[in-house]
Amino acid sequence: MSRTAIITGGGRGIGRGCAHELARQGCDIVLVDLIPEDLANTRAEIEQLGRKCLAFEADVSSFDRAHDIVAEVETDCGAIDVLVNNAGKSNTSGIAEITEESFDRTIEINLKGVFNWTHAVAPGMLARNAGRIVMMSSVNAHTGGVTSAVSRFAYTTAKAGLLGMTRALAKELAPHIYVNAVCPGVIETERSNDMIRARKDELVRGISLGRTGTPADVANVVAFLALSEPCFITGQDITIDGFQWVI
Ligand code: NAD
Repeated sequence: MSRTAIITGGGRGIGRGCAHELARQGCDIVLVDLIPEDLANTRAEIEQLGRKCLAFEADVSSFDRAHDIVAEVETDCGAIDVLVNNAGKSNTSGIAEITEESFDRTIEINLKGVFNWTHAVAPGMLARNAGRIVMMSSVNAHTGGVTSAVSRFAYTTAKAGLLGMTRALAKELAPHIYVNAVCPGVIETERSNDMIRARKDELVRGISLGRTGTPADVANVVAFLALSEPCFITGQDITIDGFQWVI
């Protein structure tokens, strides 16, 4: 049976990796992203895998846009089985230099954006008594991530908020809708490549598995949480960091 999965921020990086893996495991894919060229490229790749793919240019921080797109997808595809709340953006400012506007924007994308999309898909999932939601948090939510060059406290605050949202919604939406989170560590993507290249030796020395992660490392776990049957896991987060012990 074909399933439909929405992946926010699906144009590149970890989101693109999740789109590939879910498509390989039989899902039709709905991509949501800011960048039209990335949407077009990833859409073509998914279609090459033989799956249907819809692509929407949208900012996850728009509540109305999330609801309009979900209504359109439900009309077109019948139902939404999986939502991967992946879109996110780092913020390199410390507390002394960050502006109110910059803090608000970080929360708006990384936390409020997840609320927007979850709020849009939840009624349909509840009506059908089925659905899987996966949040893209970060190992920073557990560690604080204070020495990371790409993401500091505002981002960490949002990603930790996602873990609270995951637990609360796992209870509220039970027993038929499963809500889990993943917490990636250092994953090589367009966003993080410059930082990783500059500090690769130092970073790898602090990772027990002796390498940085790839989008596929994350996508495998997301697909497990999104598709595995039977499943007795909800309200949890899984860290995917190769056991990073220097932070
Ligand atoms: P990336 O920048 O390579 O990809 C993010 C995608 O999200 C891009 O296609 C971007 O256009 C899209 N996006 C950003 N803001 C958006 C918005 N407002 N609306 C719609 N789309 C938007 O980043 P990535 O490294 O693939 O990160 C993906 C997710 O994983 C993020 O939530 C990030 O915080 C999280 N994460 C990444 C790492 C890492 O090391 N790369 C580690 C932990 C968590």
